[in-house]
Amino acid sequence: FKHALHGWSMAEAASDATISSNAVHILFKDVDSGEVKGASNLEGPQTIENWCAAKPNKQAIEFKLALSKINSASDLPPLKNPDFMDHVDDLSLLSHLHEPAVFWGIKNRFLSKRIYTYSGMVLIAMNPFERVDIYTDEIMRKFGGKKRAEMTPHIYGIAEECYRAMLEGKNQSVVVSGESGAGKTQSTRYIMQYLAAVDSLTDSEPSNLRSETEEAVLASNPILESFGNAKTTRNDNSSRFGKFVQLFFSNPYSGKVHITGAKVQTYLLERSRLIYQPDTERNYHIFYQLCAAAPLAEKKMLGLTAWKNFAYLRQGNAGVIRNVNDVEEFRTTQEALSTAGVPVALQWEIFRICAALLHIGNIEIAPNRDAASCSEIDAALIKCTELLGINSSEFIQWITKKQNIIRGEKFVKNVKSEAAVAARDSVTKVIYTKLFDWLVKTINKNLMRESTDSQQFIGVLDIYGFEHFATNSFEQFCINYANEKLQQEFNAHVFRIEQEGYIQEGIQWTMIEFTDNKQCIELIEGKLGILALLDEESRLQNGTDANLVTKLNTHFATPSQKFYAKPRFGTTDFVVKHYAVSVQYASHNFIDKNKDSMSDELKQVLAKSTNPFLRELLADDQVSAIAAVPAGKVVGRASAKTPTLGSVFKASLQDLMATMRKTESHYIRCIKPNMAKEPFQFEGAMVLSQLQACGVLETIKISNAGYPNKLEYAIFATRYGLLVDALSRATFDNKALTMKIVTSILTDPSKYQFGKTKVFLKNGQIAFFENRRKDRV
Ligand code: ADP
Ligand code: MG
Repeated sequence: FKHALHGWSMAEAASDATISSNAVHILFKDVDSGEVKGASNLEGPQTIENWCAAKPNKQAIEFKLALSKINSASDLPPLKNPDFMDHVDDLSLLSHLHEPAVFWGIKNRFLSKRIYTYSGMVLIAMNPFERVDIYTDEIMRKFGGKKRAEMTPHIYGIAEECYRAMLEGKNQSVVVSGESGAGKTQSTRYIMQYLAAVDSLTDSEPSNLRSETEEAVLASNPILESFGNAKTTRNDNSSRFGKFVQLFFSNPYSGKVHITGAKVQTYLLERSRLIYQPDTERNYHIFYQLCAAAPLAEKKMLGLTAWKNFAYLRQGNAGVIRNVNDVEEFRTTQEALSTAGVPVALQWEIFRICAALLHIGNIEIAPNRDAASCSEIDAALIKCTELLGINSSEFIQWITKKQNIIRGEKFVKNVKSEAAVAARDSVTKVIYTKLFDWLVKTINKNLMRESTDSQQFIGVLDIYGFEHFATNSFEQFCINYANEKLQQEFNAHVFRIEQEGYIQEGIQWTMIEFTDNKQCIELIEGKLGILALLDEESRLQNGTDANLVTKLNTHFATPSQKFYAKPRFGTTDFVVKHYAVSVQYASHNFIDKNKDSMSDELKQVLAKSTNPFLRELLADDQVSAIAAVPAGKVVGRASAKTPTLGSVFKASLQDLMATMRKTESHYIRCIKPNMAKEPFQFEGAMVLSQLQACGVLETIKISNAGYPNKLEYAIFATRYGLLVDALSRATFDNKALTMKIVTSILTDPSKYQFGKTKVFLKNGQIAFFENRRKDRV
């Protein structure tokens, strides 16, 4: 707290020093330096934003509620919710719906080991970082056939709700989001497990919960995780790709409904990890599994030794994960591949490719200043080209040399050693990406057992949440772009449901205003947006990251563009003002990452491979079909046929959005409660910034603009009937009684409306009834 006051004027500091240690603290941070400039406590107005708007110096100081030391509900006196709401299952039922109350509600539940809380249609899932005994078959059975509101908040409640709605003929989707390590992949797994068992949950005879198809669907998880997950500082099993799994169900009108198949779509596998891992992080699990567990004969054949011997595996200096046995994991991977219909012989073709890539990383390139070189008898070179079935001298030639075509004439020239290393690594990235895509395709082929055209589905999206690091690159840019799109759908959904509720109940309403992030999305993906300019620069022979930033500044650093900014210092970065927070992107490598291709010469060397599996991997037409590059615009390095990563991602996101729009959506927001992954530890500032980033707090604003509390007449009349005379109680029906109670207590008619079955109340009104009630009982 002392630290929080640093830099604040003496007068302010003196007045702030009187804050009790239990108050809700707001820390003020300087927009530019991020330095904490002061602290104060919250009282009076409803949201922190209102509160800050009333403060002078608003522009200079970015508000940030952090370190919220809310230790009991009574720390919020002016806006305190009635006591009985202390442990509400659904935060949207709170009378005073403001940020600290929501925050307090979640904290309160979490500290009593309830990890799930509803906030309207959103399920908030706190990561317990400890095994919690709430995912047994028995508990699943309890949820079978139940309504969400009948049961305590649980991920099974959401899964069950999806299933019921799907039976009525509407496709469903669940968006699971949150930062790395928050619990998205686990949550997705629980949903899939529930849905794979759901058809048998209400059977009277406890039987085998899952069929063969359902087992096959679940087997896709370990495969994708072995090849697409890695240990990072944030999560020992961090997914380095996004995924959307659609589970298809048999026709609800023809007997018992069961899963008939599934389809997996993946997004943006992280490529840089293949060649570089930060300290304490690993490359993809599969490599370590192979090094640890391949039988002797195979090890020999593939030239595999301990992970420490491979440049691609040892940079993070963390080959072993605590409590993970790579030998056992390898067996799981193999079993899952078998379940997915990949025969053992083919599995070894896959592993052969993986081993070859490890050897590529060990090819030594002499660090000559102008002309890179590599020995023809380099052991790694010989092994990798043997495994890939390609010509080793051609391969090394096109790694250490480059061909330019100038006015139709070909020139071969030497390259610097960094360029040679980059060329070498580009082969690894391309082949592994193709391998991953092939795995997804193979899984899908096996899972699409019946035609899906006319089938119902439930889709589950497990996708990286908003990212904001010290340095943000192309990957963060794409991830945050995806989150903007999802946020837009989410807002629209919340908004639509809210309005539909009003129409259904026949109450008068006016359009609620809320800030849309449409313009920010337009800035990124529009015809002349950042992605388009990036593609344009990527296609120029002499395009550079620096020119890209200049171009962006020319187009967007204008008074009319509210979502773009030039950073105060330097010329290499640019800032996008995302809905969650402004993010500064370092343009370094944007162009290379966007192009992400290898030279045509290397492509040709690979295409001539004698390894049929490698040829199958490379003969891939999928990608080029998705994103068409405008004709006639093509110059130089990136050829017309290789779509940029940015454009592929944009196209796949648009596809995803189109699919999701055909569904009813559900939202799960996973929250990581502490950095250290400690069981049931709650760090306020961390939780709060995540609630902000995932839009939970934003939806509160939407709700607050309308009538956040909607109570059925029967419920209202029963609870507050004692506020009026006994005669009315005895003679009036629920609606009439409710009307009598409300009009006798609330004097401002703009604070309520009576619908067909519910009374609609503005923010804070329930507290009036609750206080009166307390006086009576
Ligand atoms: P994300 O996919 O969001 O990066 P994960 O789903 O991989 O995160 O979860 C990270 C870790 O958190 C898991 O490996 C597990 O240890 C723990 N965890 C997540 N959800 C739960 C849960 N419901 N119960 C117990 N532990 C969990
Ligand atoms: Mg994950």
